[in-house]
Amino acid sequence: MNVCETYDFIVIGGGSAGYAAARTANELGAKVAVVDDAEELGGLCILRGCMPSKTLIYSSEILHFARQGKVFGFEDSRPRADLALMQRRKKEIIAEFADYRAAQLKDGRFSLYRSKAKFVDQSSIEFTDGKTIKGDRFVLATGSQIAMPPVPGLDQVSFKTSDEVLELTEVPNEVVVLGGGIVACELAQFLQRVGSKVTLLQRSEGILRDFPQRASDCIRNKFTEEGMIVKTGVSIEGMEQARDQTIRVVYRHKGVKESIDTQFLFHALGRKPATDRLNLKEIGVELQESGHVQTNSFQQTSISHIYAAGDCAGPHEIVHVAIRQGETAAFHALGKSVEAVTYDHLLGVVFTDPQVAIVGLLPAELRKRGIEFLSADYPFDDHGKSILMEAKHGYVAVHAEKSTGVVLGAECAGKDAGELIQTLSIAVSLKATVHQLAKADWYHPTLSEIWTYPLEDLAEEILEGS
Ligand SMILES: Cc1cc2nc3c(=O)[nH]c(=O)nc-3n(C[C@H](O)[C@H](O)[C@H](O)COP(=O)(O)OP(=O)(O)OC[C@H]3O[C@@H](n4cnc5c(N)ncnc54)[C@H](O)[C@@H]3O)c2cc1C
Repeated sequence: MNVCETYDFIVIGGGSAGYAAARTANELGAKVAVVDDAEELGGLCILRGCMPSKTLIYSSEILHFARQGKVFGFEDSRPRADLALMQRRKKEIIAEFADYRAAQLKDGRFSLYRSKAKFVDQSSIEFTDGKTIKGDRFVLATGSQIAMPPVPGLDQVSFKTSDEVLELTEVPNEVVVLGGGIVACELAQFLQRVGSKVTLLQRSEGILRDFPQRASDCIRNKFTEEGMIVKTGVSIEGMEQARDQTIRVVYRHKGVKESIDTQFLFHALGRKPATDRLNLKEIGVELQESGHVQTNSFQQTSISHIYAAGDCAGPHEIVHVAIRQGETAAFHALGKSVEAVTYDHLLGVVFTDPQVAIVGLLPAELRKRGIEFLSADYPFDDHGKSILMEAKHGYVAVHAEKSTGVVLGAECAGKDAGELIQTLSIAVSLKATVHQLAKADWYHPTLSEIWTYPLEDLAEEILEGS
């Protein structure tokens, strides 16, 4: 074996998790190498995930508002989406983020290797050109890839994924979306708003099934109001592609066999951890059934000097979790004291309009853990600022410990829920009580002020300092 270089700390994957781990290890004085095989540096979030999707979704939200000119008191100009223009704006923005990340990876703090890597043994990795480097500690941060779930016929047809949707320069006439998760819902509404006729087919009984039922219903109602066809409880029976590229999707819905023809099938059925071809099993790194790398709460795998962070580790494939995991892995691996990663104050946001946002423990989990709690809620259609903004869809709810009033969780479906939840996220993290929050100043008239209604209800109900 031709070992060229030895490092204290080697990170495989230079996305959100990998960069966080490498940066932290460098700050702790380690000699660090980062290996990334992507043609373009930046990772999923910057190149094909959060940032491009939110740029385009924001454009479609502006378009949606512009079309409601008459409601807000100006001439209705019926603007239309120019996807090529939207793409130009997106590309400029994304290029800046990607350039910045590439510069960070190349600024000399790390040795950067641009190659696919696989383990040769527990202390060495090999690149595609046969070169090998050795490390004392490793972080796997290889991210995720599109999954191929066993949906009949899916492997026989030429579907599109979020990657292609995010690159569209022309509006497809119609789109069939498979799936009802976060990416499916966010991009289905984007497509509907820029002018496609969207039909969303989802297997389970509701969309956004990891979110509260009330929030899921709120989004479904808004989708339907905007003209999208949403079918849940759908079981796909087969798919075939005709010579003219039309794809026929045959499915059962409410016991009845139905079919739909489409030129644009959007597979939004999820991603899977990118953990194959790394030789992980061969060197003794245990994987979960899902393919995620098995870790403890310090991100340590079954081989104690190999860590994993981000989408390849799960269980929540979102950026702030990837970063927290990457940092934790670096601190722990380099012998520094660090808090274990917990998900008790986890944040989740769906960038539909209205948005959905949750933080902490919600009623189902609180009941499962046998924690006594009280909840209070308030609708957007009765709140001054949301009424004047025509943002009347949705609600906020706060869940607090019954005996102390400590805020354990909160949920919001409504305009800018992703921004509104941040206040409650801080409360949950700092274990603030409803009494403390109710005493804070809330400026009038703001959307955030909507939290005061459930907070005051709970503060009245729960005796302070009990
Ligand atoms: C459409 C879409 C929208 C999203 N929106 C949001 C959002 O709004 N908010 C949010 O929090 N999350 C969002 N996500 C999820 C988020 O993008 C991911 O959770 C996050 O980017 C994962 O970061 P990571 O570091 O784990 O992986 P990545 O950023 O994917 O990095 C992994 C890197 O490892 C490299 N690699 C893989 N295998 C090897 C190998 N063998 N050798 C060398 N290099 C390798 C890859 O090339 C890649 O550069 C979205 C995802 C999608 C698809």
